[in-house]
Amino acid sequence: MSGQFESLRASSLYCRRCGQAMPVRERLLLVLPDKEIYDYLCTGCADSVGQREVTAGELLHRRVAPGPRNPSPHLR
Ligand SMILES: [Zn+2]
Repeated sequence: MSGQFESLRASSLYCRRCGQAMPVRERLLLVLPDKEIYDYLCTGCADSVGQREVTAGELLHRRVAPGPRNPSPHLR
């Protein structure tokens, strides 16, 4: 089973507004020289339910796209 890996990523977080764990959307909030800060928004009420910092070391693994902006917003 590969379900354990998905639980490591914050695909759903508890939302106080909705009163239950809700699927969240990751949004790039802030870009710093050594890290990026992501905001997690509840897909039910669009409230912010959490944040995550990605340090430069992790960014190296995530360097897939050529730029910080998503070139194809219709992907999802
Ligand atoms: Zn919510």
